[in-house]
Amino acid sequence: MTAASTISNFGRNISFVPRRSYRPRSDEEVLRILETHRDGTVRVLGAGHSWNSGIETSDALVDLRHLRHMHVDGDRKRVTVGAGVRIGALLKHLSERGLTLPSIGLIDRQTVAGAVATGTHGSGRHSMSHYVESMRIACYDADGRAEVRTVDSGRALRAARCSVGAMGVVLELTLPSVPQYYVRERCVWRPDLESVLEGEAGSPLQQFYLIPHAWTWLVHERSVAQENRRTGGAALYRVYWLAVIDVLLHLCVKFSASLMRSRRLVHLLYRRLLPLFLFPRWRVTDRSDRQLTMRHDLFRHLEMEVFVKREHLAAAVDSVVDVLRKADERGSYVHHYPICIRRVLPDDTLISMASCHGVEQQDWYAISLITLTEPREPFQRVAAFLAEGLSLRFCARLHWGKWLPSGGAGVERGYPGLGEFVATCGEFDPRGVFRNRFLRRTMFHQMGTNLRQNSA
Ligand SMILES: Cc1cc2nc3c(=O)[nH]c(=O)nc-3n(C[C@H](O)[C@H](O)[C@H](O)COP(=O)(O)OP(=O)(O)OC[C@H]3O[C@@H](n4cnc5c(N)ncnc54)[C@H](O)[C@@H]3O)c2cc1C
Repeated sequence: MTAASTISNFGRNISFVPRRSYRPRSDEEVLRILETHRDGTVRVLGAGHSWNSGIETSDALVDLRHLRHMHVDGDRKRVTVGAGVRIGALLKHLSERGLTLPSIGLIDRQTVAGAVATGTHGSGRHSMSHYVESMRIACYDADGRAEVRTVDSGRALRAARCSVGAMGVVLELTLPSVPQYYVRERCVWRPDLESVLEGEAGSPLQQFYLIPHAWTWLVHERSVAQENRRTGGAALYRVYWLAVIDVLLHLCVKFSASLMRSRRLVHLLYRRLLPLFLFPRWRVTDRSDRQLTMRHDLFRHLEMEVFVKREHLAAAVDSVVDVLRKADERGSYVHHYPICIRRVLPDDTLISMASCHGVEQQDWYAISLITLTEPREPFQRVAAFLAEGLSLRFCARLHWGKWLPSGGAGVERGYPGLGEFVATCGEFDPRGVFRNRFLRRTMFHQMGTNLRQNSA
């Protein structure tokens, strides 16, 4: 047990002091913690990279940093990791063996368990949650006694693959590993969304950006390379990307939007300056984990990400542009960061954002809105308004690991699998020990309503 101290997340929008903090080194220690806090609230801290209060608890916080084992199976087809392993450490371990993960996000600083818990995704593949083959979870039996269960099939696995910690403390999980591969990429401009989507056939891993105030489309074209070797000056490209995009662009955004608070400078940045620093002819091939990640964590920011089905993407983008333009004209908020859009294939889960449970199988598109300025209220007002509108019109879903303003009604509307998910959680946590305020506001909202109705 460590002394009580303030815990803050990456975005510094969440901070709290748990009554007890633990860093267990074994399953037995975790079970003892669950026994001690069986009448309280237990939450897990991964790397703290989520922007919502999923980690928050006034009672027990469990940090699994010491559960760091990694084991690749003899047939090299799967890897089992402790819940404290960071994605970067796992990618390195796999790469040394000529392997990698089937799907990763933009950065590799999160814990594998934390990323899986929230449906973390990249572009052109399923989310990481979809791929989970089994998990060991510390939870409670029907009499409220702590126990460890292995979940490897059926409804329980589909629930556990993305559960935001609502089913218990994930101790270990197994994911498939795939042979290491190389990715070929270049940045190109496209005139409209239609032509961006047409490019998907030849560039299935692409992600794209709607550039604010220019309202043009920049596509990070990406596909699996035929050859496993670096080409096109990949080392130089890495340096360029770090210096120009990860650092210089962010400094310019900070200067124009945060320091000067100048709408004109932000417009100038995106309409005139940014195109000067992009080189559409530069095609580069590099190892997948290098090419697909960036140092997006150098500047603290706040992000909300909204998922819509492919059939709603064009209308959803129109709404985003409309709302941001109006806010800009009124002077209430100047959007100052490229809007990244990524395609996520349908997940076999109950409540990850790309879950296909109970909905027609189609790809989902994640639209990301980021602010680098503080105070954040102007951004939050606009983002919350957009989230509500997109939820009502398109049953949009919000990323479980990002800023999540909406309450239970939006979650219910978005996830037909929510009822089954909640029922499964009841089997792992009959007394609701893993439910903090955030989970009660979002996924367990209906239960609260029922309880209130029953007691009324
Ligand atoms: C700079 C940056 C870039 C990002 N890029 C992407 C991206 O490209 N794609 C994307 O989808 N997301 C992205 N994210 C979001 C991020 O992947 C998720 O928020 C992820 O959950 C963070 O992992 P973590 O280890 O920090 O978990 P935490 O934030 O610590 O925890 C997340 C949630 O999972 C629960 N949890 C964590 N570990 C366990 C466990 N062992 N057992 C039970 N519950 C657990 C926590 O209680 C909490 O509710 C990004 C975030 C940042 C800050």
